Amino acid sequence: MNTFDSKIPKGPLAEKWTEYKGHVNLVNPANKRNIDVIVVGTGLAGGSAAATLAELGYNVKAFCFQDSPRRAHSIAAQGGINAAKNYRGDGDSVYRLFYDTIKGGDYRAREANVYRLAEVSGSIIDQCVAQGVPLAREYGGLLDNRSFGGTLVSRTFYAKGQTGQQLLLGAYSAMNRQIGLGKIKMYNRHEMLELVVVDGKARGIIARDLVTGKLERHSAHAVVIASGGYGNVFYLSTNAMGSNATAAWKIHKKGAYFANPCYTQIHPTCIPVSGDHQSKLTLMSESLRNDGRIWVPKNIEDANAIQEGRLKPTDLKEEDRDYYLERRYPAFGNLVPRDVASRAAKERCDAGYGVNKTGEAVYLDFAAAIMRYGKTQAHVKGLDENDEKVVKELGKKVIEEKYGNLFQMYEKIVDQNPYETPMMIYPAVHYTMGGIWVDYNLMTTVEGCYAIGEANFSDHGANRLGASALMQGLADGYFVLPYTIGEYLSKDIRTGKISTDLPEFIEAEKNVQNQIDALLNNKGNHSVDYFHKKLGKIMWNKVGMGRNAQGLTEAMAEIKALREEFYKNVKVTGDTNGMNTELEKALRVADFLELGELFAKDALHRNESCGGHFREEYQTEEGEALRDDDNFAYVAAWEYTGNPAEAVLHKEDLVYENIKLVQRSYK
Ligand SMILES: Cc1cc2nc3c(=O)[nH]c(=O)nc-3n(C[C@H](O)[C@H](O)[C@H](O)COP(=O)(O)OP(=O)(O)OC[C@H]3O[C@@H](n4cnc5c(N)ncnc54)[C@H](O)[C@@H]3O)c2cc1C
Repeated sequence: MNTFDSKIPKGPLAEKWTEYKGHVNLVNPANKRNIDVIVVGTGLAGGSAAATLAELGYNVKAFCFQDSPRRAHSIAAQGGINAAKNYRGDGDSVYRLFYDTIKGGDYRAREANVYRLAEVSGSIIDQCVAQGVPLAREYGGLLDNRSFGGTLVSRTFYAKGQTGQQLLLGAYSAMNRQIGLGKIKMYNRHEMLELVVVDGKARGIIARDLVTGKLERHSAHAVVIASGGYGNVFYLSTNAMGSNATAAWKIHKKGAYFANPCYTQIHPTCIPVSGDHQSKLTLMSESLRNDGRIWVPKNIEDANAIQEGRLKPTDLKEEDRDYYLERRYPAFGNLVPRDVASRAAKERCDAGYGVNKTGEAVYLDFAAAIMRYGKTQAHVKGLDENDEKVVKELGKKVIEEKYGNLFQMYEKIVDQNPYETPMMIYPAVHYTMGGIWVDYNLMTTVEGCYAIGEANFSDHGANRLGASALMQGLADGYFVLPYTIGEYLSKDIRTGKISTDLPEFIEAEKNVQNQIDALLNNKGNHSVDYFHKKLGKIMWNKVGMGRNAQGLTEAMAEIKALREEFYKNVKVTGDTNGMNTELEKALRVADFLELGELFAKDALHRNESCGGHFREEYQTEEGEALRDDDNFAYVAAWEYTGNPAEAVLHKEDLVYENIKLVQRSYK
């Protein structure tokens, strides 16, 4: 039976998690050896969960569709990971991280989860340092920090522009230890295509071996979904090309509610789209906003001249530049949260002030930072602080040390030297705050099925603050799930092995086989990408940065029609007896075509603006998101009923007892 109880422990906010841990049911070590857990996904969330559960003694079966856990999308994370360590002594605390996260998410997240996240954030850094993750250090050897958007403190730990990679190597080595010990059985290049539910409980999955093409049945006492986000529903995004929603969507169809699907993060600092040939967008980490200043020309004539290539940005005088974030948000300046920065860029570009050929780009300029750092270095070295050439060279070196790999990446893609001329950036789809609804235990509405990391509807409300996704994924995997899953499994110690010959497994496998056969036997004319691109265009134009009732209604109808067209006219080449990437894509796009419609439906029903969800009808006079707390202070959790358009809405009211609900301001 599905339930809808968020299971938040009673008691004061700051004591909930400690109390919970003190009283939660435990499974004794001997019994853990008789319990199997499936973990789908081995990015930071799944990798840390698999390693920890195996370390505790459970038998773990871990799945990923890449050839190694090391290739999970988490590896792409650049900028950093937050933790309330207050190493800077700049006023940080658990409460402040909690507060910033709730406010950053525009008051649409669950208090108890966010507080727990802030509470365990410090342990994540300790854990990773113990694993040997090379987080950046200062000259004196202490861990370094930088700032990310939506905060007034420096709490972001980082490893140059490769934080995700280094953290993932840490989780991967912890996993490998358990693989070596036989406690984790790793299934690389396996894709979960169905959840198996027996007597109302998640008891296994159907996975396809992507190399042999064979369908396999795997059973367990609990199933953990750590399959990442669904930003690729937009086709173009900063996500890895393979990131997809299939695992999440399949469990949704088996009874897991899908929460707030319309909460998407559009990241302000990405390399602008250059044409129709592109299949991927590239992020320029938010960390760059520590030192980069964002601007467009003040005068429209200059903007036109730049667009037409008649004027160079470096020729524009200081007084002819509009540092619009610093102008509009003096308190936070270039470090406003992502949703605010993205909308502000769009506003300037829509008004004609964009700076590339398409008019859809703004500048991110490091000239001032180069000179500032250079002067300090010249001072330290006893050189002439007024010698511009010397100062510039010294400043460039500092910038290179901080962001070298990001600058190199930019130059390779755009063929311009960002040390000499400002970068061009524009917002792009980046992260999905929506996802599978989970209770305080991280359990979905299917008993025994958990969702962690970006795959769940998460702790970020309607907008995630930078460097908080890695924090949440690792909190879930290292520190939360290992406790909460024990509570459930403690009732399962006498169950014994789950047979994969049960009718539910046979039925689930048959369904997957039928879907594969139908796709392969379709005699259509269009490739899978053709449909994915079309879906992406509908999503970006009508369900993207700005949304309105008319566009969303149209989007729902267009996506439904596109889905019907897909089943009539898709052509999937190859066969099922081996590697077939077209088939993999087809199965994923089929799910995106359903999710896209629910996404638009959710955006249409939410008659307010909050965080990344911007309904043009609901904005302040200054163009800021206008929330409606009286009517929409809830999590929208959708139940599948056979058709995304007819999904049934369940509301989890958000109760704020420790924070006052006010209109968000970064001025
Ligand atoms: C370019 C970029 C930079 C970022 N930088 C930062 C940053 O600096 N700081 C920060 O906090 N956040 C950052 N983020 C966000 C962050 O990287 C992600 O939210 C986070 O890594 C997601 O981790 P995850 O473990 O939930 O999922 P993922 O890392 O996406 O892992 C998903 C896993 O699930 C597996 N999987 C998926 N579906 C299936 C299936 N059906 N069957 C089997 N396996 C499956 C995959 O193989 C993979 O192992 C960034 C995101 C991007 C796009």
